[in-house]
Amino acid sequence: MKNKGILYILSGPSGVGKGTICRQLVAKRSDLSVSVSATTRAPRTEDTDGVTYFFKTKDEFEKMISDDKFLEWAVYNGNYYGTPVDAVNERLNKGEDVILEIEVQGALKVMERCPNAVSIFIAPPDEDTLFLRLKNRGSETDEQIKNRLYAAKDELSKKDKYDFVVVNDDLSVAVCEIENIMKNQKEKM
Ligand code: ADP
Ligand code: 5GP
Repeated sequence: MKNKGILYILSGPSGVGKGTICRQLVAKRSDLSVSVSATTRAPRTEDTDGVTYFFKTKDEFEKMISDDKFLEWAVYNGNYYGTPVDAVNERLNKGEDVILEIEVQGALKVMERCPNAVSIFIAPPDEDTLFLRLKNRGSETDEQIKNRLYAAKDELSKKDKYDFVVVNDDLSVAVCEIENIMKNQKEKM
């Protein structure tokens, strides 16, 4: 029988480069995908419903919580975010690996619920760089950037709870480090 796939948790503060890293990781492997989360936050111009997120109203999201549809969910900066559990299990059962690109509260819940999950924290080289990445991305207002940097302080304080910490300074180095972590996990199976 085929082995089950590996569940990876990839977290880190907003703007650190999680999305950029994930896109590079999945582009190289057909048996690795990023779970599509549900959220109540407003779509950005680059978002596509069902591709980057499943966009939900607050009522729809709360119904999903009460129907036990999430592996984990959390409130981040006033919006709900959650990982639909069925899609993740389906891919793992097919032997595919899945990345959850999620914030820290949700990550801690998955670590508890799925002790075999491999957790990776992406850290910025320093706080000024994180600010500049958020500012240059241009997807949030100054007020939202301030809130995200405030949340980042708490998130960074939890990095030692993860199996691995990778600093995203040079993007190709960070991607390569994660690919090595993934290769080592496969060899352990
Ligand atoms: P997150 O998904 O963690 O919120 P993004 O992937 O959206 O972060 O990255 C935030 C911004 O930083 C983007 O504009 C991205 O192009 C840029 N970025 C990501 N990694 C690096 C890096 N290593 N060096 C410079 N810029 C980066
Ligand atoms: P953004 O609004 O920038 O897309 O995401 C904000 C934060 O929510 C990011 O740290 C992102 O990783 C996190 N996030 C995205 N999806 C989920 C999810 O399903 N669960 C949790 N807990 N966090 C998520």
